[in-house]
Amino acid sequence: MSRTGDGGPPLAIGPADIEAAAARLQGVAHRTPVLTSASADARTGARVYFKAEHLQRMGAFKFRGAFNALARFTPAQRERGVIAYSSGNHAQAIALAARLLDMPSVIVMPHDSPPPKLAATRAYQQGRPGSEVVLYDRYTEDREALGARLAAERGMTLIPPYDHPDVMAGQGTAALELIEDVGPLDLLLVCVGGGGLIAGCAVAAQALCPGIAVVGVEPEAGDDTRQSLARGEIVHIATPQTIADGAQTQHSGRLTFPVIQRRVREIVTVSDAQLVATMRFFAQRMKQVVEPTGCLAAAALLEGAVRAPGQRVGVIVSGGNVDPARYAAWLADGLG
Ligand SMILES: *Cc1c(COP(=O)(O)O)cnc(C)c1O
Repeated sequence: MSRTGDGGPPLAIGPADIEAAAARLQGVAHRTPVLTSASADARTGARVYFKAEHLQRMGAFKFRGAFNALARFTPAQRERGVIAYSSGNHAQAIALAARLLDMPSVIVMPHDSPPPKLAATRAYQQGRPGSEVVLYDRYTEDREALGARLAAERGMTLIPPYDHPDVMAGQGTAALELIEDVGPLDLLLVCVGGGGLIAGCAVAAQALCPGIAVVGVEPEAGDDTRQSLARGEIVHIATPQTIADGAQTQHSGRLTFPVIQRRVREIVTVSDAQLVATMRFFAQRMKQVVEPTGCLAAAALLEGAVRAPGQRVGVIVSGGNVDPARYAAWLADGLG
């Protein structure tokens, strides 16, 4: 727990936790590049710095939080291993981090997950006894109950995708590296699912540049965190219909939300059509493959939901794992 310095209750993480995570990730996670684009600057009137987490190991920032959490396991926890439930990037992040730390992993995934995702997760687990993908039916089974039961039966430690201090601290190293590399920023734009990434990034950014504005970006259809900030408590919504599958969360976390309340200036939203326009911008202008969720923060700036003329703006590009056929269709025909 960390004191906030402004009189409120302690938050789940503080700047020292992010520094410690950075030390654990040193030489293991990629220090991803920071990309710039004359087109992006001309279009926005800002100086824009894109932190390229689509070029992170396994294709998204989630490796940072997963590895940081697993690196902190006790020897007894390591021997039993880790369990996670995820249909997305968290599954691959945990499977890869577990392999690197030589511990078993059990990943609970929907039985109708895209075959490439199942294959990628299993490939990371290959050759490690005790590791497996457990499939469940997302329409009839409760994955949280299943995960808890497997964890208890096998003595494994469950690591959730965002609502965990070590996960949040690991994700914050993305903003730490960005500001270390380019210097102080006026504004930092970060996508929001369950809020692990923005919570960590906001704590890191405000420690390094007090006065920076941290703004979150959600899909228009899934603005639960924006509603929660307005209401002053965590709002639950139905699973949102959006192409930003990494941000299809129904609510922010018990640990992430207080950090967001204290450290994030506001949340803005973008539409799926704006995400497609931004995927095209990344492909055509910057030669980068970015998944829809990874486009959220950039879309807010490039499509005008946030204006920052004359400012130095950081944009976290969160991931690049996208099905090639769908990606090709989005580039060719839009939302169709
Ligand atoms: C998980 C994920 C997010 C959302 O992160 P949270 O920590 O849940 O807010 C955004 N983009 C990508 C690519 C992700 O995998």
